[in-house]
Amino acid sequence: EAVLDRITAVDPLIQAYLTLDREGALRQAEQADVARKKGAAGPLCGIPLAVKDNFCTRSLPTTCGSKMLENFVAPYDATVVTKLRQAGAVLLGKLTMDEFAMGSTNENSAFTIPHNPWNRDFITGGSSGGSAAAVAADECFAALGSDTGGSIRQPASLCGVVGMKPTYGRVSRYGLVAFASSLDQVGPLTKDVRDCAILMDVISGHDPLDSTSQNRSVPDYTEALQEGLHGVTIGIPQEYFKSGLLNPDVEKVVQEGIAQLKEAGAELVEVSLPHTDYCVAAFYLIAPAEASSNLARFDGVRYGYRDCDATSLLEMYSRSRSGGFGDEVKRRILIGTHALSAGYYDAYYRKASQVRTLIREDFMKAFTRCDLLVSPVSPTPAWKLGEKINDPLALYLSDILTISANLSGIPAMSVPCGFSRDGLPIGLQLQASHFNEPVLFKAAFNLE
Ligand code: GLN
Repeated sequence: EAVLDRITAVDPLIQAYLTLDREGALRQAEQADVARKKGAAGPLCGIPLAVKDNFCTRSLPTTCGSKMLENFVAPYDATVVTKLRQAGAVLLGKLTMDEFAMGSTNENSAFTIPHNPWNRDFITGGSSGGSAAAVAADECFAALGSDTGGSIRQPASLCGVVGMKPTYGRVSRYGLVAFASSLDQVGPLTKDVRDCAILMDVISGHDPLDSTSQNRSVPDYTEALQEGLHGVTIGIPQEYFKSGLLNPDVEKVVQEGIAQLKEAGAELVEVSLPHTDYCVAAFYLIAPAEASSNLARFDGVRYGYRDCDATSLLEMYSRSRSGGFGDEVKRRILIGTHALSAGYYDAYYRKASQVRTLIREDFMKAFTRCDLLVSPVSPTPAWKLGEKINDPLALYLSDILTISANLSGIPAMSVPCGFSRDGLPIGLQLQASHFNEPVLFKAAFNLE
């Protein structure tokens, strides 16, 4: 009830929720109370959580921030939603996002554009901006997001909360509406590192319904939360700190964070990720290529929006897709379709896939010298709403520090580290080799 009151008070200003299920939440809370009294409380018993609106939920709409799915209710729950429910969580509702998770500011939503709780003139980041804002504004205790190129970590950084993109295959994507299937991963946004570990304990693990989920045992992530970093080597990628890339406040705050890690006992080494300059180009071919294929299913026949004035089948397809998708989604479909078309496939998609392998090898090589990498998450703190929305290339470039973790499949985390001179939060990014989430938790715990 306290969280629902809080939502009533602040959500008109923040605009994080697309769907709020008041009655359902109170009912679930009562059920949790019964379970607790019976001694059958799960690890999240009675905890009020919310999820980004691209996770399928049986009882609530799943819009993906798109007019295309405005009235869509999925016939099943995503595996992670089932896991939250089984752990006793109370699902408050669904959080706003960039349409089909494409964006870095959440301004691409067809419905509501959230405001940064630290200063409402500023963006939350995206595409999980609703999730980050809701956690930062105490409108839920924690949330789930999805991260294809930074969409958990970047809004977490800009809103001052913890966000983790787990290793590709660590958490089931079944019931997450696909953006780019080889890059998408589900993860938590939380108030602190311990909450993140607790949520990861609940959502991780093999799922026979997701063929890319890995059948490996799940460690207890909360056990990694220990004081001290003796014996841990932390790499500083020189390309991420080269002059001109970082806003001075971001650089200063992250350097202070690095000093804190050193003080906790970590050894620092300089490492190189020589293909960093090619990350953005590779990502913005691979992600749109996969998106153009995934979004082909939205044809006005099987799901969502249909233009009923069309007089032929082809016209119905084209008018439904023209009317149902927003500009950024259309831009990605065009880029992706072009990059996959006969005659261009080798020059664009295949080349980008080869570059992806080189980027991954950079990381594997760096991890022979260190246990984790430290860097900023976003080159700048949050910027003003509307400031860059007409400059898609500037937005794409702002993803430079986060997308390589998705291209490589490695786990990465954003931890609040300090503030800009304007009082906006700045996060620090930690990245580790595949399935090495425990070392991320350990380092993050020592930053709090
Ligand atoms: N900002 C990136 C994009 O617009 C990544 C988004 C994401 O991780 N879903 O594609």
